[in-house]
Amino acid sequence: MEAPRKKIAVMTSGGDSPGMNAVVRAVVRTAIHMGCDAFCIYEGYEGLVKGGDLIRQMGWSEVRGYLSEGGTLIGTARCMEFYERPGRVRAAKNMVLNGIDALIICGGDGSLTGADRFRSEWPSLLEELVSTGQLTASQVKPYKHLNIVGLVGSIDNDLSGTDATIGCYSALSRICEMVDYIEATAASHSRAFVIEVMGRHCGWLALLAGVATGADFVFIPERPVSECWHEEMCAVVKRHRAFGKRKTIVIVAEGANDKDGNKITPEQIKNLLADKSEGGLALDTRITTLGHVQRGGTAVAYDRMLGTLQGVEAVKAVLEATPETETCFIAINENKIVRKPLMKAVEETKSVAKAVEEKQFDKAMSLRDTEFSDQYKSYLTTTNVKTDEHKLPEKERMRIGFINVGAPAGGMNAAVRAAVAYCFSRGHTPIGIYNGFAGFARHHGDKPVGAVREFDWLEVDGWASKGGSEIGTNRELPSESGMEHIANLIAKYEFDALFMVGGFEAFHALSQLRIARETFPSLRIPMVLLPATISNNVPGTEYSLGSDTCLNELVQYCDKIKQSASATRRRVFVIETQGGRSGYIATLAGLAVGASAVYIPEEGISLDMLNTDVTHLKKVFAEDTGQSRAGRLILINEKASSVYDAKLIARIIRDEAHGRFESRESIPGHVQQGGVPSPMDRCRAVRHAIKCMEHLQGYGRRTATTGGSTDPLSASVIGIKGSELVFTPVQELEQDETDWPNRRPKLSEWLKMRDIVDVLGGRPQHARPE
Ligand code: ATP
Repeated sequence: MEAPRKKIAVMTSGGDSPGMNAVVRAVVRTAIHMGCDAFCIYEGYEGLVKGGDLIRQMGWSEVRGYLSEGGTLIGTARCMEFYERPGRVRAAKNMVLNGIDALIICGGDGSLTGADRFRSEWPSLLEELVSTGQLTASQVKPYKHLNIVGLVGSIDNDLSGTDATIGCYSALSRICEMVDYIEATAASHSRAFVIEVMGRHCGWLALLAGVATGADFVFIPERPVSECWHEEMCAVVKRHRAFGKRKTIVIVAEGANDKDGNKITPEQIKNLLADKSEGGLALDTRITTLGHVQRGGTAVAYDRMLGTLQGVEAVKAVLEATPETETCFIAINENKIVRKPLMKAVEETKSVAKAVEEKQFDKAMSLRDTEFSDQYKSYLTTTNVKTDEHKLPEKERMRIGFINVGAPAGGMNAAVRAAVAYCFSRGHTPIGIYNGFAGFARHHGDKPVGAVREFDWLEVDGWASKGGSEIGTNRELPSESGMEHIANLIAKYEFDALFMVGGFEAFHALSQLRIARETFPSLRIPMVLLPATISNNVPGTEYSLGSDTCLNELVQYCDKIKQSASATRRRVFVIETQGGRSGYIATLAGLAVGASAVYIPEEGISLDMLNTDVTHLKKVFAEDTGQSRAGRLILINEKASSVYDAKLIARIIRDEAHGRFESRESIPGHVQQGGVPSPMDRCRAVRHAIKCMEHLQGYGRRTATTGGSTDPLSASVIGIKGSELVFTPVQELEQDETDWPNRRPKLSEWLKMRDIVDVLGGRPQHARPE
């Protein structure tokens, strides 16, 4: 006899967060795809306790359009009854009556604690149901083991063990958007703003917003300021004003305290900044409390991706679980989705709050993940520029050249700014090489203002949130500029190290410089590349700066297009994306908007493929009731095929549809490079750039004149590989990992997501070649 189909339920609980809908969609569709029945429990634990209509089986098309909606469409609530055993008994009864075997819960640490409690009590809850005659022994028999998997949905990013919670980057985006607006008016009037953001126990939002916007001062619960914070903050603000800065931004988390546990309020900060007495700053100061706008709006691309991938992983975890499996939650570490023990994470999270309460702040910081402490260091570096505290001895100070190569990408300026700040704080001299190798090669004379010049902090300080590349960028390779000439210039300017930011051309340039070291001793200086390109095609990393900004632009574009397609009901939009010969952004955007098909250069396009997809579209439209919102999207990378482009595919679909539905092409073009870089790109730019500076600094001064370093890492690429942030020698990458003709890595981790995009988009499995 065939085993009964597994019934998997999903629910959202606690505070809502953007990306929860992506979770629900992914769980429902993956469960159905795996041959299970999918259920939604509406209104969090309230729904579980009350049952009835609040527990519903879901069909494939009922979660259409979920990706682009904010909040949670299946509702959430705080449920007092679930804290008490009788409430949990009722919940268990409803689970059994609906035949639910497994529960996937997306919520904060409270919700996940409740979930674990429910599971640990499960056998006794069933016993009670039988002993009180509410259910019979045979009714409960098939449900002896309750399977629970947690997903962390929270805007605070407060759960230990995961780098990001579903929703935190959307909230951070909203905050940064607001701060960016405020900055313009602050600078115009030379004002100070105190901005209060959410975070009662966790300062992640405040800290990262501070890093992304280049705020002057940040107050967070984990690292409270000393009793002398008044003097400290005023000293920092005074110093920044003395550089000539016209605006002052202070970000304060709701839960910020001083070391004695006294709350620090925005009013106190304002009064201090506005103090007109002698020695006071006397700044025209305003307070802005961001409040619930931080929760609002649709999810950014990252949260949609995180919610989707974790939802898929949660269903897999449910299906693979045995009675002995420990309850897990799904985490992300750097770029890797992993299962981790749930209770350990909840306990660690609680111990952070406890450590803060007990004023053990070092412990609180150490319990947060490495990204958090790295970003705290970033914040200190960029706000304490030009203080003497961390300066190195004269003989260790280096002259570091900065160069951007390739097309502009979001986060390039933030990276340069952070690295410049690091240099100033350590006493190094940061020197900008303007307009890439072309600018370097063709500049003449020793003019102080020209293609090569020392950075001025006042100018650079304003670059935290700027798009494009302020020092210019150019695609020319050193071989095209003349390698000997470049080597001579490097010698002439006495660079001790080179910091490069850019995409595949930058990688190629670094490889050329490394190879030319043999001939030109001046090139035997340490060099590092921080990958930045929307195409995300640099070997040595799974993530490049700018790719997140690009994805967000594309997702916003697609959402709008999809809405218009839905309004006319029967339309397929074929959208052409950039990305060179890498299908990364097309695939990830497809994941984030729910594309019906994605065409990428790695797979090409065949007649068979088109035939299958068009036939499928015809079937889908034929089955549409007419009531459902039926706009559909197909994404095609610009180089997916030398024959079929967006226009041609749209025409083929239109012709095949015989008037039953329509098709149009749409090309967003350079919009994809983005305006203001996303906070993720900005924050990662800062963190990675500082790591690059530390790496270069490790080689010390004048390595070229002393024969140069033989360490392969002296010419390397920084990148995220799985769960780690690492440097990889360019030599290793260029020889083993680079597909040179196609200008991309030989193996790309993201290709593993192709199946998920297709499954969740409802594309026929046989559409793509094996
Ligand atoms: P947020 O991050 O928004 O605070 P959260 O999940 O931590 O989200 P809570 O209000 O703490 O939000 O919890 C949500 C619900 O989970 C509660 O209303 C309650 O029903 C259930 N819950 C929380 N803690 C427990 C617990 N210890 N035992 C049983 N149920 C709990």
